[in-house]
Amino acid sequence: MIDPKPTASHFINGAYVEDTEGAAIDVIYPATGEVIGRVHSATPQIVQAALAAAKAAQPAWAAMTGTERGRILRRAADMMRAQNRSLSELETYDTGKPLQETLVADATSAADALEYFGGLAGSLTGEHVQFGEDFVYTIREPLGLCVGIGAWNYPTQIAAWKGAPALACGNAMVFKPSETTPLCALKVAEILHEAGLPAGLYNVVQGLGDVGAALVSDPLVDKVSLTGSLPTGRKVYAAAAEGMRHVTMELGGKSPLIIFDDAELEAAVSGAILANFYSSGQICSNGTRVFVQKGIKPAFLKRLSERLATAVLGDPMDEASNFGPMVSERQRDIVEGFIAKGKAEGARLVCGGTRLDRPGFWLTPAVFTDVTDQMTIAKEEIFGPVLSVLEFDDEAEVLARANDTDYGLAAGVFTQNLPRAHRMVKALEAGTCYINTYNDAPVEAPFGGVKLSGVGRENSKAAINHYSQLKSVYVRLSQLEAPY
Ligand code: NDP
Repeated sequence: MIDPKPTASHFINGAYVEDTEGAAIDVIYPATGEVIGRVHSATPQIVQAALAAAKAAQPAWAAMTGTERGRILRRAADMMRAQNRSLSELETYDTGKPLQETLVADATSAADALEYFGGLAGSLTGEHVQFGEDFVYTIREPLGLCVGIGAWNYPTQIAAWKGAPALACGNAMVFKPSETTPLCALKVAEILHEAGLPAGLYNVVQGLGDVGAALVSDPLVDKVSLTGSLPTGRKVYAAAAEGMRHVTMELGGKSPLIIFDDAELEAAVSGAILANFYSSGQICSNGTRVFVQKGIKPAFLKRLSERLATAVLGDPMDEASNFGPMVSERQRDIVEGFIAKGKAEGARLVCGGTRLDRPGFWLTPAVFTDVTDQMTIAKEEIFGPVLSVLEFDDEAEVLARANDTDYGLAAGVFTQNLPRAHRMVKALEAGTCYINTYNDAPVEAPFGGVKLSGVGRENSKAAINHYSQLKSVYVRLSQLEAPY
């Protein structure tokens, strides 16, 4: 089993760095509430050291060929896969998510991102546009210094989903993980450098929102990529706007999952479970408003309750466990607050929503029914294991209700009527849609939101456009004339 204690708080210019002047942040294992490590928040000197290292290292990195850069990223991907078990254990220590999940979803998806963007790096190009004898060519250039700021639900994945495309395009990165989960990003940095990444190109600094705020408003910074909540997104976007910095915003959601009468029942129940309870419900794209058509609702609720009763809320390090605790005491309290509101506003709790009599931040998976569109639990992002069932009659009605939200991260439809499925996803206001599945996020597909759920896309070739810019070069071969 990996020792979760970090070597030091920060990773700057290719090496671990400690500075105990910064406020201490205890690392708490969510499954037991025990303190398993300690890091120190970055002081202004640490922030400046990280930014300066990135700024200094970036030009030489950008001058390498894409193939050379990609080779290093792909080597890092292989190293991550080779260390998958220990990295998964660390992710479990950081987040409390069961090892059964982390073994297949965290370091593995980080490795996928490094491999995918490593593979793309050598084929990044501009284009050529002919105008008679003259022509324009475009040069794809890196943005420069990118800041990444992460949420606490997928600390390894977020560190790589931002780092891999940034580095592939020739940028340098300073990454700040959530103070709730400071461990995993340090390992991503360590592996990248062991794989041959030159010093200074991927730095990690710890801290709370004030460190993030210092990073996003620093004049050295060219781009900010945030994964976080809408209120933080608003602040970060505004700070970035001051310096006309590029942004990627991966924010929250209140996504609809729509189950029609003709859906295959077991698949629809599986979809609802994956859309609400994987990672104990702490996933931005979760389909937490589960619209169930009248005819299938009793059978759906029955099978959902039966299957949830078989969830194993055990030691997350035991691979037989498949449901973990909330990431923190604070997050558990927030979720419990929503459950209390749901009850007070008249929703009926079918099962779950209670603490377990053991240390740590455990909450059993909760299902509400008789939920109406105006209730708090149907409107606000909960970010915990709380599923709301809302009943509907027909397609037009459910479409209007599903879109009646300021968010637009994801949406899902379960039906065996394929024309209807495609009609629905065409009309659903969401960046990522699912038909007869939910929450798949392969690196090859764009991921991101519309409306208040975000700006830009992560993953896929689309991410390249968010980590590079085009310079146009006009070349005249014909005779140049002037009016006088
Ligand atoms: P927060 O918005 O609270 O924090 C996100 C990150 O931003 C943290 O590292 C935080 O630091 C930092 N931060 C806070 N204030 C500022 C600031 N003023 N300037 C710069 N950085 C700041 O989100 P959570 O960590 O609580 O994560 C949950 C949220 O993330 C949910 O809303 C969820 O939907 C969203 N999310 C979105 C995803 C997506 O891809 N769309 C994926 C995963 C989560 P610290 O926490 O250390 O104070």
